[in-house]
Amino acid sequence: MSVEQAPVQRADFDQVMVPNYAPAAFIPVRGAGSRVWDQSGRELIDFAGGIAVNVLGHAHPALVGALTEQANKLWHVSNVFTNEPALRLAHKLVDATFAERAFFCNSGAEANEAAFKLARRVAHDRFGPEKHEIIATVNSFHGRTLFTVSVGGQPKYSDGFGPKITGISHVPYNDLEALKAQISDKTCAVVIEPIQGESGVVPADVAYLQGARELCDKHNALLIFDEVQTGVGRTGELFAYMHYGVTPDILSSAKSLGGGFPIGAMLTTEALAKHLTVGTHGTTYGGNPLACAVANAVLDVVNTPEVLAGVKAKHQKFKARLEQIGEKYGLFTQVRGIGLLIGCVLTDAWKGKAKDVFNAAEKEGLMVLQAGPDVVRFAPSLVVEDADIDEGLDRFERAAAKLIQA
Ligand SMILES: *Cc1c(COP(=O)(O)O)cnc(C)c1O
Repeated sequence: MSVEQAPVQRADFDQVMVPNYAPAAFIPVRGAGSRVWDQSGRELIDFAGGIAVNVLGHAHPALVGALTEQANKLWHVSNVFTNEPALRLAHKLVDATFAERAFFCNSGAEANEAAFKLARRVAHDRFGPEKHEIIATVNSFHGRTLFTVSVGGQPKYSDGFGPKITGISHVPYNDLEALKAQISDKTCAVVIEPIQGESGVVPADVAYLQGARELCDKHNALLIFDEVQTGVGRTGELFAYMHYGVTPDILSSAKSLGGGFPIGAMLTTEALAKHLTVGTHGTTYGGNPLACAVANAVLDVVNTPEVLAGVKAKHQKFKARLEQIGEKYGLFTQVRGIGLLIGCVLTDAWKGKAKDVFNAAEKEGLMVLQAGPDVVRFAPSLVVEDADIDEGLDRFERAAAKLIQA
């Protein structure tokens, strides 16, 4: 039985919400696969995937099934008790990755927060308080808590909130010499996104990640991969570190892991995990049965040869057509990225205007993303139908044509 709900509109956002977001003019109300409908019944194709979250599109039957089944069983017990879905999920992640232990939380920022705290705790226990420095990369993004914006180091996210967490430095991305110059025996961890997501879809070079691994080993520092955006099939491998063949000590996951249900995970080895003894860290909701039941279903579908191979094939389809559109309309200098995390770099004429492209696409019934002002980003469902890719890219081409005319 459903209760009559009061009607709401986009204008209500400005009346009742904290103004830290600027949502689009329409309100999505329903989704199926890679299609979304708004309040007026208008249909859009979704190449944004809720910012690399809706890994199996909208209302995927396996996820709806897992969530409903768990909803009728047990929602929450807190970490005073463990629960079956959490243990099954941890087994799955441990079996599928380098990791031997999992910690569950509710977001990417929390997964990174746990990763950074673990790195500092390990260094503190093994080497003493001097060894606490964290090296991150320029233009990285690790979340919005005070620790994670401090590590991200981008002033637009970290300035104006009082003193930041100290002991953090930033070196240019993909610059091994810079990392070599900065790392020391005071370094407890180096944190890298295998593909910088928010800052323009910039993939790491293999030699860079390999070199970072060697430098960390040399200085007893831990290598943390922030795979919040790149993980769970996005690159055509379960995690991007597998694509690169470079194994971290700690990995953070979130976004796609829940396919739209909030969950985050920090994965690590047994030897490191043991430093987070009882009471050292925690979260009320982390490892919640509903979230873990959905994430189990996500992994069951995504971690299959068919889906992962499909990601690589769909990448080719996107890339070929986007390069063609970019050239025809003088819009892009480069189409980059791995798997279904794709960034189109705007030409000088369109620099700074990713928002205009976003708006033009929306008018044609297509959801895309920005990754900074100069890059148009695509992060669709990993199982987006080929027909939806074709139709979505037709819409994108119409948007590009209109942009150029205007
Ligand atoms: C989105 C993102 C985060 C933050 O995740 P939240 O769930 O928003 O806290 C952290 N790191 C990377 C690489 C991300 O893309």
